[in-house]
Amino acid sequence: RKKQRKAFAAVVEPDAGKKTVLVTGGAGFIGSHTAQALLSRGDSVVVLDNFNDYYDPSIKRGNVELLEQMAEGAEGSLVIVDGSITDSALVGKVFQENSITHVCHLAARAGVRPSIEDPLLYVETNITGTTILLEMARLHKVRNFVYASSSSVYGGSKSAFFSEDEDVSNPVSQYAASKKTCELLAHTYSHLYNLPTTGLRFFTVFGERGRPDMAPLMFINKISKGEGIRQFGDGSSSRDYTYVSDIVDGVVRSLDRAYKNEVFNLGKGSGTSLIDFIGTVEKYTGKKANKTILPDQPGDVPYTCASTDKAKALLGYSAEVAFDEGIRRTVAWYNEKEGLESGELVRGGGGMARKEKE
Ligand code: NAD
Repeated sequence: RKKQRKAFAAVVEPDAGKKTVLVTGGAGFIGSHTAQALLSRGDSVVVLDNFNDYYDPSIKRGNVELLEQMAEGAEGSLVIVDGSITDSALVGKVFQENSITHVCHLAARAGVRPSIEDPLLYVETNITGTTILLEMARLHKVRNFVYASSSSVYGGSKSAFFSEDEDVSNPVSQYAASKKTCELLAHTYSHLYNLPTTGLRFFTVFGERGRPDMAPLMFINKISKGEGIRQFGDGSSSRDYTYVSDIVDGVVRSLDRAYKNEVFNLGKGSGTSLIDFIGTVEKYTGKKANKTILPDQPGDVPYTCASTDKAKALLGYSAEVAFDEGIRRTVAWYNEKEGLESGELVRGGGGMARKEKE
């Protein structure tokens, strides 16, 4: 189907001033890259992360060490708080003690399939945690509240390009439902208290320090080591894989523009089939994948592709890194750290073979 041309309009306050940004989930994959970008341009950063064991917490400790090294020569300060976004007394203290001006809320229980196995954990972290942060953000009158949503809210949409004005009231996993609920709560806080909120629907993010439970890093790891991979479905399913620096660029642009209440897709804007994806990993690892083909999994969506028109028009966002180049860089990083220990990275061991898609 042809992409429709639309005009976008929104009420926005540009905000280029120095910031003290609370980055929840700042020890994680996207959070640590975002904190790095904010520190490098002179903002102060407060990381709130509970270093949970969804995947090996030593990876998150390593991410924080990198941030601490960076902060040594930086203009802004870095504070690391080890605690949960569901602990309202702690969250209140963090806002109070650090004079937070902006929230970049990336902490979550991520992953589609584990949310089907443990829905209460997802509701508590993603919905209760987000409500506590919104509540503190309005009490402390922050200038902007930016938070991670997900492409998974589009569920089984049949559109060629998912666009933000599509009906997303049919989530097909508890994870997707929790992310849609965050968008609804953000709307409520914007409506009741004029808290500026921006939700970002990320499309399958990959890159250096990526999540070991997600297909890109998992496949690079297993194919490099000659270990078998499990391919769910016939390989024609396609994802909009987005390189992490592009996502971070979109997050930072959102922090610099306080919209009343908006939601944006952040993706590359084109899909890659699973077959091509595996082929690209084979090309850069120089190894042939040893595949076992299994049926599609519940909760998975066959196709994701972002319409990035709105993010282009309003945020000036545009994904710069091609899929092939992103995989090349990720494999180079992987080789530099001489591989990852497979099998122990994700709680539950066997979960390692999940082809995670968000
Ligand atoms: P990640 O798991 O690497 O990062 C999430 C971080 O949040 C982790 O460091 C974790 O320890 C922390 N966290 C979890 N529960 C917490 C709690 N109760 N209190 C404090 N910290 C807590 O995942 P990521 O890929 O960097 O994802 C960041 C955000 O982007 C998440 O909200 C995720 O749902 C969303 N997202 C990611 C993708 C993707 O492809 N990676 C796609 C769509 C949406």
